[in-house]
Amino acid sequence: MVDAVTLSKSFGSNEVLKSISLQVQRGEVMCVIGPSGSGKSTFLRCINHLERIDAGRLYVDGQLVGYRQKGDKLYELKPSEAARQRRDIGMVFQHFNLFPHMTALENVVEAPIRVKGVSKSDALARGRELLARVGLAQQSGHYPSQLSGGQQQRVAIARALAMDPKLMLFDEPTSALDPELVGEVLDVMRGLAQTGMTMVVVTHEMGFAREVGDSVVFMDGGVVVEAGDPKEVLTNPQHQRTKAFLSKVL
Ligand code: ADP
Ligand code: MG
Repeated sequence: MVDAVTLSKSFGSNEVLKSISLQVQRGEVMCVIGPSGSGKSTFLRCINHLERIDAGRLYVDGQLVGYRQKGDKLYELKPSEAARQRRDIGMVFQHFNLFPHMTALENVVEAPIRVKGVSKSDALARGRELLARVGLAQQSGHYPSQLSGGQQQRVAIARALAMDPKLMLFDEPTSALDPELVGEVLDVMRGLAQTGMTMVVVTHEMGFAREVGDSVVFMDGGVVVEAGDPKEVLTNPQHQRTKAFLSKVL
């Protein structure tokens, strides 16, 4: 589903991703861990067209991200073409970014109606179904300010799912939550993983990475230091940098 081949990205002279090569299989849950500033968010943002790639190739579901290849030459996609690619990717951020003036249900149905042209009645029916799936059937008419952080994040997940993505990206989805609200969001993500959704999850929740992740990737300084089975990497890390990081967070 995701194939990064010697992917590099710099901001000015700061090389943030240094020739990263990674693959995420269809149906796989990959957890990405690593210290602050290691390039985790930038990697997700490249997948989701929020950053332009400097070198290497990135494919999502077999399609080159952001470019069209003709012979040996690459042509940058037009914004409308890039937007079309992005529609199939759902992203959930640390800060939920819900529209404050819209109810939970309105937040969920906005993109399907406006971007995909789904009929209002179909979108509302699906939106109610998705809110029920994240445990918020009773809160569909609530505004974000009337919801807890955990509830807002579950609305954000339902909103991403409303576009029927083939890939879901999570960037520290529980880092802004009070500790007692983390579990309800992780439960929703666990349920989503069980449906076979392909997920890339940047997280500091090592328990989640171990139990739900099919693979874990440890990034540091813009490189993939170590990757593999979470049970192996988290309990028996091979690299000194991984050991040092885990000793601080576990
Ligand atoms: P992480 O998510 O692992 O904490 P990031 O991908 O957010 O790391 O950031 C990696 C590095 O890239 C940091 O040094 C950060 O300051 C830098 N960076 C991220 N986004 C930008 C940007 N838009 N402009 C300049 N530098 C950036
Ligand atoms: Mg980050």
